[in-house]
Amino acid sequence: MNWNEQQLALQNTVSQLGAELSKHHIEWDRRAEFPREKWQLISKSGVLGLLFPEQYGGTGQDLLTSMGVLEQLGHCCEDAGLNFVTSTQIVSIGIPLLRFGTDALKQKYLPDICSGERICAHAITEPSGGSDAFNMSTTAIFENDKYILNGSKAFISNGPIADLFAVYLLSDKNKGVMGGSSVFLVERGTPGFEIGEPIEKMGQRTSPLCELRFNNCEIPVDNLLGNIGMGFSILDYVMKHEVLCSFIINVGEMQRRLEKCIDYARNRKQFGQPIGSFQSVANKIVDMKIGVTQSREALYRAGKRVQNKQNATIDLAIAKLVTSENNVTSARDAIQIFGANGYMVEYGIEKDLRNAIAGTIYSGSSEIQRNRIASMIGL
Ligand SMILES: Cc1cc2nc3c(=O)[nH]c(=O)nc-3n(C[C@H](O)[C@H](O)[C@H](O)COP(=O)(O)OP(=O)(O)OC[C@H]3O[C@@H](n4cnc5c(N)ncnc54)[C@H](O)[C@@H]3O)c2cc1C
Repeated sequence: MNWNEQQLALQNTVSQLGAELSKHHIEWDRRAEFPREKWQLISKSGVLGLLFPEQYGGTGQDLLTSMGVLEQLGHCCEDAGLNFVTSTQIVSIGIPLLRFGTDALKQKYLPDICSGERICAHAITEPSGGSDAFNMSTTAIFENDKYILNGSKAFISNGPIADLFAVYLLSDKNKGVMGGSSVFLVERGTPGFEIGEPIEKMGQRTSPLCELRFNNCEIPVDNLLGNIGMGFSILDYVMKHEVLCSFIINVGEMQRRLEKCIDYARNRKQFGQPIGSFQSVANKIVDMKIGVTQSREALYRAGKRVQNKQNATIDLAIAKLVTSENNVTSARDAIQIFGANGYMVEYGIEKDLRNAIAGTIYSGSSEIQRNRIASMIGL
């Protein structure tokens, strides 16, 4: 990317926060606690409003510019959980609200989304429907000018800390996926809406996740996002942005890891030589360089197509797949390069592997992306 001065200045603003955002990141991870004071920094940085018009408190940047800033966030902030909270905040509600929402809903919620005042989450997955996302049993039934929600959701990132939820559900069981699913905005505290306790997990431990339950939860018609029956189109739109905004952060994280490994391999000596002079160590670092370059190029290529409103289905699938898998490989190799130090929590290297693995599962698992690519090439 040939970034112009204004784009570089935006990236630089975020980079300067790196030390503060990364402070005590190993302790936060150990405690599996959301670093709320760092959320204030993220909120003030302007990152949350990048993609939204000024009238809602954003800065109205285009998609590629925003991706450039998010890549820098990944590069400078060593708390991958916090980074994931940030991308979920941007894509889960703000993005579909701007595209599909009524003026009234935009005015009500977008300013607080851009300022970080309200934390957002989106709830698609259910115990019965993960990869098969629309195999859901949460329903909305229209009764007396309101929708009544019943059902439950699983693995909802930001759930324990969120104030506003985009809930995907069936509004007409007879119509199936196309036309039968819809999205409602549900506020924390709505009667009949229960938010579960944080669930312990392998990585991204500063990004809390939980279950949600709806028990005769009444939602006003005005809180419907888009039209009734638009659930599938809205999710498709959100997933494009989730792949671009969330995984470009992983590219920044991979770049930082690469730099750490180069530095370590130059300075750590064994048999009287820097370990980087041993070809099998150097090759691992070369593969890390190839992985991050390939991922970056794939994501910006897909981002360009989305920004230009071109079909990007196969580009997004390839970009998501290579980035998530390269991230796991690079995190695994970094541990090997750091030897025993890499395996020790205090070096902050081992948590990269725990964090990276989630990316091969959410936003459409690696297997689902391969299915998509296979069908796009006519198999
Ligand atoms: C850290 C984390 C955060 C998450 N955050 C959210 C969130 O904010 N909101 C939300 O709604 N959900 C969230 N999820 C859930 C996530 O979207 C699902 O985990 C994902 O869709 C996979 O569903 P599943 O876990 O039920 O696995 P399953 O769908 O049961 O899949 C199990 C295995 O079978 C494979 N598989 C399934 N179908 C096929 C197929 N057709 N062909 C080949 N292989 C297949 C899968 O790839 C996987 O390897 C999150 C998950 C994680 C791990």
